[in-house]
Amino acid sequence: MPGMLPGMLSPDHSLSKIARQVDAPRRAVDLVVIHCSASDSGKLLQQGEPGKPGHLNAPKVIDAWHAARGFKRDPKAVRSFSSSLPAIGYHYVIDINGTVWSGRALDEIGAHAQNFNARSVGICLIGGKEREARYTQAQWNSLREVVAMLLVEYGIASALPRRTVGKAYPQGYTMAGGVCGHRDLSPDGNGNGMVEPFEWLKTCPGFDVGAWLKRGMRPDPKHVFQETSK
Ligand SMILES: [Zn+2]
Repeated sequence: MPGMLPGMLSPDHSLSKIARQVDAPRRAVDLVVIHCSASDSGKLLQQGEPGKPGHLNAPKVIDAWHAARGFKRDPKAVRSFSSSLPAIGYHYVIDINGTVWSGRALDEIGAHAQNFNARSVGICLIGGKEREARYTQAQWNSLREVVAMLLVEYGIASALPRRTVGKAYPQGYTMAGGVCGHRDLSPDGNGNGMVEPFEWLKTCPGFDVGAWLKRGMRPDPKHVFQETSK
């Protein structure tokens, strides 16, 4: 059963209530890639004032960024899904209050991880400007829920991806299905089968996705944004 989320989920939605589009063709997906917007942690990403004309919320700001970089969704896809977001490269955007916004439809190939787009789903957490990113607990809760849903939806058996060096991908390795951070898709420069910090092209999403998975999709407290933290 193909998974399609409606335009927006409330932070406290339950998976059983998620509407699904039943007759769409299914894209083969075996990788979930986590990103960040590299904006201030715990701060709304927006332009203008809420409720006023011209206000852009987080997915619309990202859509504008991606449009400026030349990203463009298939017009047919735009007509049928997230029609106010003609450029966005991600499938989901997780706002600081935990709201999950849909970007591209799951069956649409994203634009978020070079060489890995065809087989992956891209999720963007708002924030993460620091090298050691901090996201709100509401964001962590939503991330866990969305990732868990995608693993079930696509039958991804192991959340922890494995790498095989020297295979088909231009980076010099193949990534077996699972969940990873954008930075984990950097080339394995020294060919030891691991992408180490010195090899990261970007630090996105600013936390160790593998460690988060091993903790049962619970964040290390140092990555949890507190209202009172500076
Ligand atoms: Zn990224």
